[in-house]
Amino acid sequence: MALINEHFLKLPGNYLFADIAKKVNAYKVSHPKEKVISLGIGDVTRPLCPAVIEAMHKAVDEMAEKASFRGYGPERGYDFLRDAIVKNDFLPRGVHLDKDEIFINDGAKSDTGNIQEIVRWDNSIGVTDPIYPVYIDSNVMIGRAGILENGKWSNVNYMPCNAENKFTPQIPDHRVDMIYLCYPNNPTGTVITREELRKWVNYANKNDSLIFYDAAYEAYIQDENIPHSIYEIRGARKVAIEFHSYSKTAGFTGVRCGYTVVPKELTASTLNGERIPLNQIWDRRQCTKFNGTSYISQRAAEAIYTPEGKQQVKEIIGYYMENARIMREQLTKLGFEVYGGENAPYIWVKTPNNTPSWKFFEEMLYGASVVCTPGVGFGPSGEGYVRLTSFGEREDCEEAMKRIASWLSGKKY
Ligand SMILES: *Cc1c(COP(=O)(O)O)cnc(C)c1O
Repeated sequence: MALINEHFLKLPGNYLFADIAKKVNAYKVSHPKEKVISLGIGDVTRPLCPAVIEAMHKAVDEMAEKASFRGYGPERGYDFLRDAIVKNDFLPRGVHLDKDEIFINDGAKSDTGNIQEIVRWDNSIGVTDPIYPVYIDSNVMIGRAGILENGKWSNVNYMPCNAENKFTPQIPDHRVDMIYLCYPNNPTGTVITREELRKWVNYANKNDSLIFYDAAYEAYIQDENIPHSIYEIRGARKVAIEFHSYSKTAGFTGVRCGYTVVPKELTASTLNGERIPLNQIWDRRQCTKFNGTSYISQRAAEAIYTPEGKQQVKEIIGYYMENARIMREQLTKLGFEVYGGENAPYIWVKTPNNTPSWKFFEEMLYGASVVCTPGVGFGPSGEGYVRLTSFGEREDCEEAMKRIASWLSGKKY
């Protein structure tokens, strides 16, 4: 008899966005004339920039000729892309990486979900709360997270991030083996200062912990004092794996490409105390379970590092960040407590009078035909907040702000 991995059954049945879609559909059915605006989308909407499109066309043409056709590529990714990453994403920040420390992937979700399989099942986990659900769920599936009790997993250390602590998680006072950090943060849109990040690196070095650092929104950082990579902090190479994605940077959510950095100095211990380099282990894992990102996607990613590509990507990010600015400004004017949105495409809004997230979600849907994402869907500390994204059209953002203003003043918009 084949027995199922019952850890999967511990996961709550419905995914947050499926619940939202159901409620939005119910509203649309009962209000067929209303045009609903979604500020809940976690996907980009601007098309790929011309430099990327040109590179993709060229790569497709190469695939059509016997002489330039490519089959399986190297598991770690093509040198042309890894060289461009080392040279453009790290060297200018004073970080010297070897290209063999870079592993090209098909997006950061796969690797942030898969990375946990290279460490033992009984390591302890720490996450900032609220958080991107992949980190916890991937640990649930392998049995590391324990069971769900009152919205919390029994073996997970939650580090609350809220207005009271200015979204700065408290460093644990005991040892946690694996820590997930995501900055700029999804869902709160907040960032971490160099000083705070240094505390984490020091903690990890002292406690022999591993940090999984998700830098998927690094390209949105506007403030030059905010670190783009954990490796800008001394000592981080010994303790941290970092994830990057072109999804939000350059609209690659449908193209699929990103990369993971596993420094050669990074090791973890066997039960006997022998130190094993994780670069070697991750390479072994990838060679068995991953056959590389498509050549076309990798050429597309390379194009982002050309002067035209850089400029075009910057403009797209500028578009989203202008949406964020407009939303922040309007919501603040309306009296909301607003966080994030200055170095990230997400705005984290405190609901008025501590209204529960889902209740506020419904009130705004029925009052203004505007969709947000209930904060509690990202973890217990998200209760009493909602997330808005700046990935929409400018006109929709502006219209949504007008509607929210009318709704609050008691008028139908
Ligand atoms: C969108 C996102 C990613 C990237 O996912 P891809 O698989 O690269 O599309 C990674 N981490 C976080 C926190 C995200 O929000």
